[in-house]
Amino acid sequence: MITVENLTFGYGGTGFRLRVPKFVLQDNERVAIVGPSGSGKTTLLNLIAGILTPEAGRIDVAGTDVAALSDVERRRFRASTIGFVFQDFALLDYLSARQNILYPYRITPALTLDTDARDRAEALAAACGIGDKLDRHPSALSQGEQQRVAICRALVTQPKLILSDEATGNLDPDSKARILDLLFEQAALAGAPVLAVTHDHELLPRFGRVLDFAQFREGAEA
Ligand code: ADP
Ligand code: MG
Repeated sequence: MITVENLTFGYGGTGFRLRVPKFVLQDNERVAIVGPSGSGKTTLLNLIAGILTPEAGRIDVAGTDVAALSDVERRRFRASTIGFVFQDFALLDYLSARQNILYPYRITPALTLDTDARDRAEALAAACGIGDKLDRHPSALSQGEQQRVAICRALVTQPKLILSDEATGNLDPDSKARILDLLFEQAALAGAPVLAVTHDHELLPRFGRVLDFAQFREGAEA
């Protein structure tokens, strides 16, 4: 489903380098990424999602070489194929929670905003416990509620791959478990693998595999 091979990446003008010799994620696999702050976890998710472009190497997502796409193609591919829960939520405050959840449909010609999509948005919001807050704007929501909006937005398109960057970070323990249930349930419906950065060590047993990021630092043993 996802193959990353011989990947190298650096931010211009900084010493940080990421090197991934090989990483494969199978359909339906649930993999947690752990590792210290600044080790490149978010950078890897951004590379897989095509938000960043590698210096070298191959990133294959569902049969598409993401690095070989043009910027426009990559944006469309991301919106229609990948559900990404961003670490900083990346919500738009001029839009309501509902409009934020349905945002992928605004920006992607290949996605049609129909009744099914609207129903899915409502159902996901209800499952996350924000069903009664859909008309509010992000600034009128708590951090945890904003996080749930971001999770609903990542799931509403029934993505083929779910990337999650600290999606449970701002939630209480019960909510963490429930949100993870929802991520896994939606992933299973679409046969999608889940790649989730998390600092919640109590959640790790729920994943099939845990990837310690220390191994991907430049110079680390492969
Ligand atoms: P993590 O998610 O594991 O905390 P990141 O992938 O966010 O780590 O960052 C990895 C390293 O790259 C850090 O040293 C960070 O400061 C640096 N970095 C992140 N984003 C940028 C950027 N846009 N420009 C330059 N350096 C960056
Ligand atoms: Mg990060």
